[in-house]
Amino acid sequence: MKICIDPGHGGDDPGLQAFGIMEKNINLDIAVKLKQLLEHERIDVVLTREKDDTLEPAERINRINQSEADYAISIHCNGGPVSEKGVETVYGHSSSAGKELAESILKEISNLGIVRRRAYNKLNAKRKDYSFIIRETGIPVVLVETAFITNPSDNHLLSQNPFRKKIANAIATGIFNTIEICQQKSSHWALPFFNGIREEGLVHDEYPLDKQVSWGELSMILFRLLEKFKRKE
Ligand SMILES: [Zn+2]
Repeated sequence: MKICIDPGHGGDDPGLQAFGIMEKNINLDIAVKLKQLLEHERIDVVLTREKDDTLEPAERINRINQSEADYAISIHCNGGPVSEKGVETVYGHSSSAGKELAESILKEISNLGIVRRRAYNKLNAKRKDYSFIIRETGIPVVLVETAFITNPSDNHLLSQNPFRKKIANAIATGIFNTIEICQQKSSHWALPFFNGIREEGLVHDEYPLDKQVSWGELSMILFRLLEKFKRKE
């Protein structure tokens, strides 16, 4: 398994800037932390930039395509009106692997307390993917808009080194869960049972079937089950 991590912007292109921090630096820091976490789990990692380099779009695309990675993760911060906040992930409209990875990363980052906005795809006027980094590359790419740098509370989180570590950790968990889910799809003995409770609406997301369940998750499932019984009475 090989992952290409693309820290958005860099060098002459600072990306968004707000409340004294620059997007290019936040993106690179999360990317480097993510690289360490993935390599610790024996996943090969290639970065499109390792320092504050300026990368033309064509060069960025080249580096992703030449990496021969299975997936690419492009790391960004979002921007907008000051009240907008939360995490978004973007995937290619024809990539089911990209969609799964985007949803998994969205879930993990929102578990940190960042507002869960959406995993989505966006097309341009020619009905192609809007983002060049998704459109021009040959592998599934997920663009992670970690949080809104233009929102005071999201910005505060992004500016904290320990919180950036948590974001990197959440992206790594999102990647591991997706890989595990892909591997278990054909083979796991418990998959029919899990699909059964998912069809009944007791769980909404996919989970690695050998992962432990927390009290929170157990309570959620039991509560939904009780609700079902109440409706039947
Ligand atoms: Zn950006």
